[in-house]
Amino acid sequence: MFIADFHIHSKYSRATSKECVPEMLEMWARRKGIGVVGTGDFTHPGWREELKEKLVPSEEGLYILKDDFRREDKVAGADFEPRFVVTGEISSIYKKNGKVRKVHNLIILPGLEQAEALSQRLEAIGNLHSDGRPILGLDSRDLLEMVLDTCPEAIFIPAHIWTPHFSLFGAYSGFDDIRECFGDLTGSIYALETGLSSDPPMNWRLSALDGFTLVSNSDAHSPMNLGREANIFDTELSYKGIMEALRDRGTKKFYGTIEFFPEEGKYHYDGHRKCNVCWSPSDTIAAGGICPVCGGRITVGVLHRVEALADRPEGFRPSEAKPFESLVPLHEVIASSIASSASSAKVKRKYEDTISTLGPEFYILRGAPLKDIELLAGPYITEGIRRLRCGEIEIQPGYDGEYGKIRI
Ligand SMILES: [Zn+2]
Ligand SMILES: [Zn+2]
Repeated sequence: MFIADFHIHSKYSRATSKECVPEMLEMWARRKGIGVVGTGDFTHPGWREELKEKLVPSEEGLYILKDDFRREDKVAGADFEPRFVVTGEISSIYKKNGKVRKVHNLIILPGLEQAEALSQRLEAIGNLHSDGRPILGLDSRDLLEMVLDTCPEAIFIPAHIWTPHFSLFGAYSGFDDIRECFGDLTGSIYALETGLSSDPPMNWRLSALDGFTLVSNSDAHSPMNLGREANIFDTELSYKGIMEALRDRGTKKFYGTIEFFPEEGKYHYDGHRKCNVCWSPSDTIAAGGICPVCGGRITVGVLHRVEALADRPEGFRPSEAKPFESLVPLHEVIASSIASSASSAKVKRKYEDTISTLGPEFYILRGAPLKDIELLAGPYITEGIRRLRCGEIEIQPGYDGEYGKIRI
């Protein structure tokens, strides 16, 4: 089994950390216990150059960091070397059927040569140099056609499908039906990224999604956020293995996902950030969608949008549904356990101590025996992880771009 996180960004994307470089991404993938990490931003020429310089091919369609660039870092028991797979995200802004649509799509490719070929064609449509996640005036359907025409083995995944302003089903940007977006090519899509603000049970409420593999990725803008959501594969470690696992839904090769609690996401609830209004969907409906502070329209979040499109009651589980685990990042568990802020030096030190004695973060959160954690990390963190594993946590839901707040 291996864990994969495909959707991430490099230092060439807007609002990302300068640390989003191959050597730091590799180090953090080791710390987290991620077997395959996306490169992100394959459309950016500077980033492709850097990837060519620092990575070498490993298994078919995968890459590994060159030894010279490897950062020394102690993670107990982590003797694996994370692989890279070529990925990128494109923001399509276009008019369709009388409305402006803004849809983000994630593309996974079997190599840097294919990334080069596809980028050459996209170059003719828009600027790929100013942002690692380029904005193109290209219809999502036409983008999909161009991707498959350039590379038939490409994997095309509509990204964070519920995000209000930039997604396939977004309340302010998308469509009510995937077929309206991708038309005759809808059948070429076999996976959808559910995003941080929704979890599998929310998505199971739409029978329209039954035919798709529901994937989860971190959309990390800094290496520390890698794997905050991720995918678990039980298949051959290769591009082909990954592609077939995503495509062949009847098998267990795509095992399941690691999730945020959806309330942690930035758009779970409805509300207005600047007006401090955070509402459940029923609150919004009761108020006619109007903010009591500024009188403007409330930003409708993911839970509300899912309910609007759902054709099944809460709690429905389709027969082919995959398992999932809801986790909170280890540094948040530590911060909560020692009553310190997640970005403090104290938490950073404790995090590094913990992984250097116990093992990678996913092992600690998911599998490590509590008595081992207690012995090496102390009683408070152990209690935090125990509560996390049985879901005994409190979350103030995120809304209108504000992350949810966790208390363990
Ligand atoms: Zn996006
Ligand atoms: Zn307001």
